[in-house]
Amino acid sequence: MTTARIVLLPGDGIGPEIVSVGQSVLEVVAQRFDHEFSFETGIIGGCAIDQSGTPLPEETLAACCSSDAILLGAVGGPKWDDPSAATRPEQGLLTLRKELGLFANLRPISAHPQLVDASPLKREIIEGVDILFVRELTGGIYFGESGRRESSGGEAAFSEMVYQQDEIERVVRLAAEAARGRSGKLTSVDKANVLEVSRLWRQVAERVVREEYADLEYDVVLVDAMAMHLISRPTDFDVVVTGNMFGDILTDEGSMLPGSLGLLPSASLGESGPGLYEPIHGSAPDIAGQGIANPLATVLAAAMLLRHSLGLETEAVAVEAAVAGVLDAGHRTADIAAGGPAIGTAEMGQLVLDALAG
Ligand code: NAD
Repeated sequence: MTTARIVLLPGDGIGPEIVSVGQSVLEVVAQRFDHEFSFETGIIGGCAIDQSGTPLPEETLAACCSSDAILLGAVGGPKWDDPSAATRPEQGLLTLRKELGLFANLRPISAHPQLVDASPLKREIIEGVDILFVRELTGGIYFGESGRRESSGGEAAFSEMVYQQDEIERVVRLAAEAARGRSGKLTSVDKANVLEVSRLWRQVAERVVREEYADLEYDVVLVDAMAMHLISRPTDFDVVVTGNMFGDILTDEGSMLPGSLGLLPSASLGESGPGLYEPIHGSAPDIAGQGIANPLATVLAAAMLLRHSLGLETEAVAVEAAVAGVLDAGHRTADIAAGGPAIGTAEMGQLVLDALAG
């Protein structure tokens, strides 16, 4: 039996609607597999700014730090969008990631066979896609020195991309471990033909794999080539590890492959401590409160939580199978219904719970 403390951070917009489905799924998993999960709910993002003046109140951070895992909805919305505002919802998320040392972002991209025709790509390209992106999250160009200076050509600006050996080692190890649990194939993406920082990345990644993961099938791809391969032969990749900015761009490109934002989860993990699990979509303010949001990305994020933070692989697979079963049976929320008949958030959630309860 596993005992776990899970913090729920519904956030803004559709967040509360979809996180409540995620919680129900975890409760049914606990019941069916005889675990004990306790839940605590915290505020983050815009609603936290409204209630406490800050997007990440101390109580929320403290609850997260002492938890085993965190399930988040989404933050943000038009109410808090003023770029000149002193504090913004996404600062809550960035601070949380930083405080918890979440250095790796995992994004599985897989094409559900029933939804292949929703993809902007041809069926024969997308069928069978199953990629796990591992993006370094706390280093690289987004965290390097930046500034402006005078130059002979007028004002100049710079943003420095720095990676330390240990930052590369830990994310490559995490990706290599994930590859061992999948098909044993790992691809590292860099720009080593141009950037010194990428030459270090390549050198360190190759050494880690050679010394510790020689059983893996390993290759390296330049980021510009990867941008092409991702839409021309995405089924050739399994686990892909890359730096912060390259990962930012490639995962957004990758998220278009399956054709539905509402089905894609993500996990942010650190060396130890709780992981943060969330759908990749935002707070969808245009449909908030209408009961029509697709809860499946959050349900699949809950499956990742079971797998990566609680080590409950069988339970994670059961949740994923329940989602696949519901899609197989033809049930669709509006975002994936292609104009056909659609069900609401609660109904979709209930179908997953029924499938899971067996
Ligand atoms: P979005 O992902 O919220 O919405 C894009 C479109 O997809 C909308 O039409 C929306 O209705 C639809 N959509 C998204 N999730 C859906 C779901 N589960 N079911 C059905 N339809 C869904 O992106 P956006 O509109 O660019 O951003 C809205 C807000 O969310 C902004 O404030 C943005 O900053 C924030 N945001 C937050 C996160 C996060 O919390 N991690 C991520 C991205 C955007």
